[in-house]
Amino acid sequence: MSAKLALLGGPKSFNLNVPELFHWPIVTKEDEDAVLDVMRQGKFSGTDITKEFEKEWAAYNGTQYALGTCNGTAAIHASLWACGVGAGDEVICPSMTYWATATPALMLGAAVNFADVDRNTLCIDPNDIEHRISPRTKAILVVHYTGHPADMDAIMAIARKHNVKVIEDVSHAQGALYKGRMLGSIGDISPMSMMGGKGFAIGEAGMIVTNDNELYQRAVAFGHYERTGVASRYNPAVDVISLPELKQYAGMPMGGCKHRMNQTCAALGRTQLKRFPERIQAIQDALNRFWDLLDGVPGLKAHRPPKDSGSTMGCWYAATGLYRAEELGGLSCARFTEAVRAEGWRQCWPAGNAALHLHPYFHTADIFHQGQPTMLAFGQRDVRQGPGTLPISENIGQHCYTIPWFKHDRPEEIRQFADVYRKVAEHADQLL
Ligand SMILES: *Cc1c(COP(=O)(O)O)cnc(C)c1O
Repeated sequence: MSAKLALLGGPKSFNLNVPELFHWPIVTKEDEDAVLDVMRQGKFSGTDITKEFEKEWAAYNGTQYALGTCNGTAAIHASLWACGVGAGDEVICPSMTYWATATPALMLGAAVNFADVDRNTLCIDPNDIEHRISPRTKAILVVHYTGHPADMDAIMAIARKHNVKVIEDVSHAQGALYKGRMLGSIGDISPMSMMGGKGFAIGEAGMIVTNDNELYQRAVAFGHYERTGVASRYNPAVDVISLPELKQYAGMPMGGCKHRMNQTCAALGRTQLKRFPERIQAIQDALNRFWDLLDGVPGLKAHRPPKDSGSTMGCWYAATGLYRAEELGGLSCARFTEAVRAEGWRQCWPAGNAALHLHPYFHTADIFHQGQPTMLAFGQRDVRQGPGTLPISENIGQHCYTIPWFKHDRPEEIRQFADVYRKVAEHADQLL
């Protein structure tokens, strides 16, 4: 391999074209038949298949209850309401996440107090939580970013001390473990996306898991009117609501919305789940191999928990590497990724979601036409934050970059991918 970087006129060092290494989800005849069966029977809008899927998902996820939803955003919305989040309240949420972790709080009249993320985990920084808790704080939202478990022991300790609920957004992290425990089974309630681009991909769908019967009932009441037993043409025999404050409204969704999962998704979920453990094992083998090959390369750091910790990355959603510019003479992450692309691997870019706390939506948007920003309009404390307040989130593109999200463990090809990243990092001085 030539030492001269391709970006500076050297020969390209990489020319693999292996789309099958990345294709996802993996669909078999069993998946196709399951979906076709729903279509042929006209069962799109029932709940029988979804309920089977829920039972199987709850068993897999290690929780007592699971509730299928139409998408992950809806699952987060219902979970927040289940935790009692309402007008004037606050939730704490990492700034560096997909918008759907945060926006449903505004739909309930609450404010979002954004916290920074940790530069090793890319998850909410447990040291940036406690000082944000006020008497109005109802919940801490945790995102296990790209499958990396957040520091749940520290977060749960803070939450229990202040009697605040913990909501795990597991959208990136199905099947991932924290110290041997399945993510989603540690906090109070855990919504997740199962949309087509995620690690567990079954269409447009979501799931809520919990061990708390009261939270489960409230999540059902929010958007699953057909399960509450009264005035329902679909399933009059089912009545899961015993909470007196909700029972009187049975048959109507408290959230005014319909959260039911399309059963083509539920059917696909059932067949996908059967093979999910073996498939995420292949992904973990591949990505652990990739990082082992890069062990000790300056500037590049694996985004994964320590090997003997009992924690894992699950399906390693949107696999990301950590960048340490200080080990590469200050070379920017953007320039590093440009050099990797120039070598011939075109999918290396600065990674992460843009910081939410700087978006005008969380400063000025007047969603309910009240003549003031929705972040304040329900009597919330003003917790809006400007530039310079959450440095890691604001500069996330300097801290991480995309790496190949392998779905199969193919050692020879994985080595070639690792070599590209290694070459650029080991010759970074040429770019300074
Ligand atoms: C995708 C995603 C969501 C939203 O899920 P949808 O199914 O797209 O509504 C929520 N949180 C995170 C962290 C996500 O990545």
